[in-house]
Amino acid sequence: MTAITDLDKFSAPGLLFRRDEGRQACCACAHRCRIKEGGRGICGMRFVRGGELRAPSGYVSALACDPVEKKPFFHVLPGSGALSFGMLGCNFRCRFCQNYGISQSQDSTFFSGEIRRAKASEIAAAADSCGAKLLVSTYNEPLISAEWAADIFKAAGKEKVCAFVSNGYATPEAIAFLKPYVRAYKVDLKCFSDTSYREMTGGSLRPVLDTITLLHKEGIWVEIVTLLVPGFNDSPSELSAMADFIKSVSPDLPWHITAFHPDYRLADRPATDSRAVLSAVELGKSRGLSYVYAGNISGGKHSNTDCPKCGALLVRRNGYSAEKAKLKIQTAGQAACGNCGRLIPGIWEI
Ligand code: SF4
Repeated sequence: MTAITDLDKFSAPGLLFRRDEGRQACCACAHRCRIKEGGRGICGMRFVRGGELRAPSGYVSALACDPVEKKPFFHVLPGSGALSFGMLGCNFRCRFCQNYGISQSQDSTFFSGEIRRAKASEIAAAADSCGAKLLVSTYNEPLISAEWAADIFKAAGKEKVCAFVSNGYATPEAIAFLKPYVRAYKVDLKCFSDTSYREMTGGSLRPVLDTITLLHKEGIWVEIVTLLVPGFNDSPSELSAMADFIKSVSPDLPWHITAFHPDYRLADRPATDSRAVLSAVELGKSRGLSYVYAGNISGGKHSNTDCPKCGALLVRRNGYSAEKAKLKIQTAGQAACGNCGRLIPGIWEI
């Protein structure tokens, strides 16, 4: 067990802030905490000491080589390994958090996660050792340690695709800071009601929508995930609103619908029926989205990538394994349907 203050030694001067009337205004996430001397932000991980905003650095709480499909990214180097690293803490307080052991312990003062001192170069080297083509900041919310992730991505160089798996509660400043390093960004879109967002997460809806829009505009590859929670976000009207928003940014943004299992503070809620997931997938497609995937339910073709124009099977997936079928790699990592030539967006090669 680790107290929050034990982590203070794993910190470095933060870059995402500005001085504001004697406080440090953090802009790593959309909470935009104004922190006074001796104080901490909502995430508990960024704090002010000696007039300096300090941010997490120099450690990991989890390090593993995962399949890229587990993140999930379906349009980024299918079948590749993703060296995944995480720290501790989060800027949200989701009652349905499925990873609360390392993300949600601010409330109880202690974290259950283990911590390990690490250098950026060591984490980058670990990606080489396991043959991973991706380096991903995940497990807890990466925005709260954006500077540390950037150090690691810099150490990895251009040979890796670097990515964030995030709740998307970002700011334009954070996105501009990350843009030189981050090529792929997974955003959780938890629901489409601001009231529900506030009640369930402690954040709000608008910054998440703005993040998705800005990431896409900046040319960062975006995939969106919605955890389908019974009675929270599974009404046809709410799912339609989410699908319509995604389509307004780009109909080619992949949308993953995943099944909830009872956990943390929603332990009394039933697990999501696989039929509800499949019905949400069909709804997304019927609203005009090109790629809607069903996550964490076994079997079936709902995790394959099919050509939205001619229906040809492009990438076949089974669990976390993937093999290219009719996907034809073109120059510069672009890909097209090998049957009809329709461009299939994503990061297909490095
Ligand atoms: S990362 Fe977000 S929650 Fe943490 S201090 Fe900065 S603005 Fe506050």
